[in-house]
Amino acid sequence: RNPEQWCRSFSYFISQCLIKDFEARPSVTHLLEHPFIKQAHGKDVALRQQLAALIQEQQEIGIIMSLTSYRHERINTRKTLIIQSCPDDDLVNLEFLDEETIICHLQKRYDELQVYTYVGDILIALNPFQNLSIYSPQFSKLYHGVKRADNPPHIFATADAAYQGMVTFCKDQCIIISGESGAGKTESAHLIVQHLTFLGKANNRSLREKILQVNPLVEAFGNACTAINDNSSRFGKYLEMKFTPTGAVIGAKISEYLLEKSRVIKQAVGEKNFHIFYYIYAGLYHQNKLKAYRLPEGTPPRYIDSENCKVMQDIVSGKLYKEQFDAIQECFRNIGFTEEEVNSVYRILSAILNTGNIEFAAITSQHQTDKSEVPNSEALESAASLLSIGPEELQEALTSQCVVTRGETIIRTNTVDKAADVRDAMSKALYGRLFSWIVNRINSLLQPDMNICSDDLYGSLCMNVGILDIFGFENFKKNSFEQLCINIANEQIQFYFNQHIFALEQMEYQSEGVDASLVEYEDNRPILDMFLQKPMGLLSLLDEESRFPQATDQTLVDKFEDNLRCKYFWIPKRVELCFGIQHYAGKVMYDVNGFLEKNRDTLPADIVVVLRTSENKLLQQLFSSPLTKTVMFLACVWPVHRCGVFTVNVCVQVDTMEMMRHPEETTNMRRQTVASYFRYSLMDLLSKMVVGQPHFVRCIKPNDDRQALRFCKERVMVQLRYTGILETVNIRRQGYSHRILFEEFVNRYYYLAFRAHQMPETSKENAVAILQRAKLEDWVLGKTKVFLKYYHVEQLNLLLREV
Ligand code: ATP
Ligand code: MG
Repeated sequence: RNPEQWCRSFSYFISQCLIKDFEARPSVTHLLEHPFIKQAHGKDVALRQQLAALIQEQQEIGIIMSLTSYRHERINTRKTLIIQSCPDDDLVNLEFLDEETIICHLQKRYDELQVYTYVGDILIALNPFQNLSIYSPQFSKLYHGVKRADNPPHIFATADAAYQGMVTFCKDQCIIISGESGAGKTESAHLIVQHLTFLGKANNRSLREKILQVNPLVEAFGNACTAINDNSSRFGKYLEMKFTPTGAVIGAKISEYLLEKSRVIKQAVGEKNFHIFYYIYAGLYHQNKLKAYRLPEGTPPRYIDSENCKVMQDIVSGKLYKEQFDAIQECFRNIGFTEEEVNSVYRILSAILNTGNIEFAAITSQHQTDKSEVPNSEALESAASLLSIGPEELQEALTSQCVVTRGETIIRTNTVDKAADVRDAMSKALYGRLFSWIVNRINSLLQPDMNICSDDLYGSLCMNVGILDIFGFENFKKNSFEQLCINIANEQIQFYFNQHIFALEQMEYQSEGVDASLVEYEDNRPILDMFLQKPMGLLSLLDEESRFPQATDQTLVDKFEDNLRCKYFWIPKRVELCFGIQHYAGKVMYDVNGFLEKNRDTLPADIVVVLRTSENKLLQQLFSSPLTKTVMFLACVWPVHRCGVFTVNVCVQVDTMEMMRHPEETTNMRRQTVASYFRYSLMDLLSKMVVGQPHFVRCIKPNDDRQALRFCKERVMVQLRYTGILETVNIRRQGYSHRILFEEFVNRYYYLAFRAHQMPETSKENAVAILQRAKLEDWVLGKTKVFLKYYHVEQLNLLLREV
């Protein structure tokens, strides 16, 4: 009779079931849909909400209790198992290793809401498309410095492995998350950051909050709703969390790669602009501040009013955007941005929205036909006022250009189309630079405090765990230059994975004389060569064509056709301005319309000159050189692999990277293009990754409808195939993923067999003595190295901690 009491006893009943049968736990939605509950309380919304909360709470308790018993069981069975992990949790332990068995196994686990599965030391993460109650602080405690096999597979376990690796060996680590768009990379990256802040004992609450708010803030500016994913990353992100050698978190640093700036001015049908534009418009609307930022009130600005989005309706009636705006304001404040800075950011964003509303009309007079003017001066004045520049100067820079020929300066007028292009180029440049500035500002605010470092035992040393979350592989109905760059980046990550998992391993077996069967895998290097080789790779050809003023998208396609003779590239008959690529993840057709312009990404010097006159400090900063940072970038295209180590030729070129970012400032030199900047940023990213010990997370999308509990075998199969999971299972089963020089091995582990003062010789014999004392089996000796299976290292590290 008392509903609350009834709720409590009902959820108590559920918790009892959960404890008994962890795997069969029903979802909250399922329970609420139960006819019994629907009948009793179907109409009472408040009661249903209360019930949902209670069930959630009880589920958490239930899961924790089940996990504890899981752990006890494991400890008992462990003694009898040689490979100390449950057969179910790791594909490597399956008896039969064919695609069908693997897929059925994953499906069975997914149906039981076990979304994580190991392949040796690699984690497969199936997107649950629903909130699971397995990421609470209690779970963080469970995945803290324990053996992997003691708990079910989990993203926290990967974070823990990286953290333990860093603390134990004083070595940087990097976690590489891959998978196609919507597979769950960004969510996984959040969870890893969450767990690392827990492990890194971020006692300093403010630092913890700052670090946790970096991702939401950057993603508000860099993510957008696409046809595939409502929160799709439109930039690549490498987040380095910084720790003292004893493992206390002290700061963070983000590197951003290739923001899809073109989204600011145009979005495909059904897609949206970057989230921040909607947040700010809704936030200011609800605060009655649209006027203050000179934003139009009736209809939303053109850049965010794409035909298929009912933006105004969402903004006026829904609370979501407004809440997100409040959250972003909170992030800015917590991370340490000043009021003035945040206000400048809002002004620039509002200026971009106003810029998008500037229209052009042709002026036809007797003498001049190619001239344009701005008929709606309101938008122009608003943009100029928000940017703190003169409206006449802005109009002048949009509708005409200064050209210097033979020492003479001539003013040329812009046609309506040309002026619109200049306007859009200005919006893109403003947004791109604002984004980079926000990232740099976050980096300076989250820089490790050297006073804290020097208190640490090891002085000012600091170590990193890097987390790579890039835009996933994309294949839309219409794919453009942006998709090409995104997909090349994914090719590069796949190549790195292959190198690490297959190529290095197999080369070492051969050079060390270890007998292990070789596994065939799909090497995507020829595709990457086709893109990146100089001078005849696709990107070089694109750059070359971009330098010809007379070139058109058609001449570009012709150039590709004449020069790219490779089975991965083809020009389809009967479709104009189009080419196809056989990527590692499937065939993609690219539409070449606009390729050259997008690659040139030109911002007329006149616009830069006007923007530099601004009285707004932030804007001055965005458009002023010289540059404060010295950037290193790689001179070679390929990391050359030699005997297990990536050697990269690095040369230092001060400011070159910045010049690549800001092409218009390099007018005296050969103009840099998006493709060349992209090539260098890829190398920059790779150079960061290769210095750390890698950990791989492979995200898989179980269906295309974003539905919970729907496992589409065919879709999963395709992803398993192109990511080489089957081959990975093989190589992890047969292979030795850790190969350590005798010297390094003895230095690392001699405590396990010798006394501290003994300082044993770093010989093969002593390495064997350690392995025997640790009671390991199945290891192999090469000529100079100990070859260990992935689970051996974990065992050794645990023993080391016990000593
Ligand atoms: P993109 O390449 O487009 O950026 P992505 O791989 O980063 O895609 P996410 O944005 O991480 O994909 O995930 C897409 C959606 O899937 C999320 O918005 C969320 O709804 C759901 N999702 C992913 N992982 C989880 C998880 N662990 N728990 C609950 N939901 C998840
Ligand atoms: Mg993402």
